[in-house]
Amino acid sequence: MSSISSALQGVLQQIRQTALAAGREPDSVQLLAVSKTFPAEAIREAWAAGQTAFGENYVQELLDKAHILTDLPVQWHFIGPLQSNKTRPVAEIAHWVHSVDRLKIAERLSAQRPAQMPPLNICLQVNISGEDSKSGVTPSELPALAAAVARLPRLVLRGLMCIPAPTTDPLQQQAAFAALRELYEQLLVDGLALDTLSMGMSADMVAAIREGATMVRVGTAIFGHRHYPGNPA
Ligand SMILES: *Cc1c(COP(=O)(O)O)cnc(C)c1O
Repeated sequence: MSSISSALQGVLQQIRQTALAAGREPDSVQLLAVSKTFPAEAIREAWAAGQTAFGENYVQELLDKAHILTDLPVQWHFIGPLQSNKTRPVAEIAHWVHSVDRLKIAERLSAQRPAQMPPLNICLQVNISGEDSKSGVTPSELPALAAAVARLPRLVLRGLMCIPAPTTDPLQQQAAFAALRELYEQLLVDGLALDTLSMGMSADMVAAIREGATMVRVGTAIFGHRHYPGNPA
């Protein structure tokens, strides 16, 4: 078994065990494998091990990998910051976008979604920890944005996404995810038909699953540590 395949099985097992321990159905949490910075061959390996949904953060990298992997029906999720001049290729390739935080971006994605493709699945990114530097709509602006995005014809609003401020304290992790879940539940009360809470990464997916995550976005725990050229992060 390749190291990607065995890491993937380990993550899937941890997802199921955490869900069960939280009194949830073991298959109520989907795994999005975050393949940013890793080569298309790494996606091929994970695909061979049964993984079909992959997350990418950078538009050009998504385009390059989708081009190399045209023989695989990969489900592409765009999860990175999206500028308005880069929406078209994302609208033409992605099945999901998790990082919408402005109406202008949503309007462009809807207008640019090819007519022969199914509507594009959308999560709204919420700045749940209130960090100045972070992308994401503020909790107070969320209801108006959600209502407006839900009306766009070529999008389907599926739910919410967050990237909380990093902390190793499980209670603080859980508090941030609980806050996103409460915003989500309020939108359901408001009448929106949502089914997705995209929250939890390698370091905090246990806390996220305990708070109701339906999709965890996991990179490092599957593919290993990332190396960015010219960037120590
Ligand atoms: C990189 C990234 C992830 C995966 O993070 P890991 O810590 O490697 O699991 C998840 N979500 C987003 C938005 C990311 O940018």
